[in-house]
Amino acid sequence: MELREYFAQAKAEGWAIGHFNFATADVLRAIVEGAMRAGAPCVLVGTSPGEAEFLGMAEAVALVQAARRSAEFPVFLNADHFASFDACKEAIDAGYDSVLFDGSRLAYEVNVIETQRVWQYAQTKRGSFMVEAEVGYLKGRSEVQTEVVIGRDDFTKPEQAADFIRRTGVERFAPVFGNIHGIVTKQEEVLDIEHLARVAAAIPDAYLVLHGASGLPDEQVVSAIRTGITNVHFNTELRVAYQRELKEELAEHPGQTTPYRYLQSADDAVRDVVEQKCRLFMAARIHP
Ligand SMILES: [Zn+2]
Repeated sequence: MELREYFAQAKAEGWAIGHFNFATADVLRAIVEGAMRAGAPCVLVGTSPGEAEFLGMAEAVALVQAARRSAEFPVFLNADHFASFDACKEAIDAGYDSVLFDGSRLAYEVNVIETQRVWQYAQTKRGSFMVEAEVGYLKGRSEVQTEVVIGRDDFTKPEQAADFIRRTGVERFAPVFGNIHGIVTKQEEVLDIEHLARVAAAIPDAYLVLHGASGLPDEQVVSAIRTGITNVHFNTELRVAYQRELKEELAEHPGQTTPYRYLQSADDAVRDVVEQKCRLFMAARIHP
């Protein structure tokens, strides 16, 4: 099945596909294992521009293809928050399955034009390729921060979302409705589910993507899925779990120099977070 078909299935049945970031082969394997343990139908993995640069795009594509074959499990690769046409083109040419073109920092009209370019180029290369876009700037970074100030002015406007989808033709859309990238420690991240419902009603044919899900209570993730989210992005929670276990492991065994030994508990922690999240996305299902 193509990625697009999994999205159609998730939307029809009311669950969400997980999206998890990686920059190393061991984390990719941990993500795939977690998704499989949870019984998820598929998993979307992503590389941010920084992660793609560290790992290499050709390497990311080859690792995902190998994971698909050896695990016999549908794993799809997304270029996450690529901010220029050229960067997206590079990912499309390298063999990625999907791209999030993030033109949210551009003026709206420029975002429309650049998103159209990405979408058209992707379709000429491969019909199965999916494009996601974003309108409204999603604040924060994929790390632990104390506070990120957002207001309703930052939220995606439903009319603008409708105009954007009509003019660009993209299938996946990342709205801003109180979500923040990363984890905030001195503030409560609160989703405005009613606002999400208004965006969902304005673009009934698009697949809605929740970014910045790290740090959100489970029940908010579930209500976002029940209001039309079909894809949830987690990055920071994986990074935090990985680093915490790695630090502990190295502190306990300072003489250990073998990577596949000292990385094991960090990988297990990532696998467990992914499994728990994927179970949550499936449990949100309201239609049998
Ligand atoms: Zn994101």
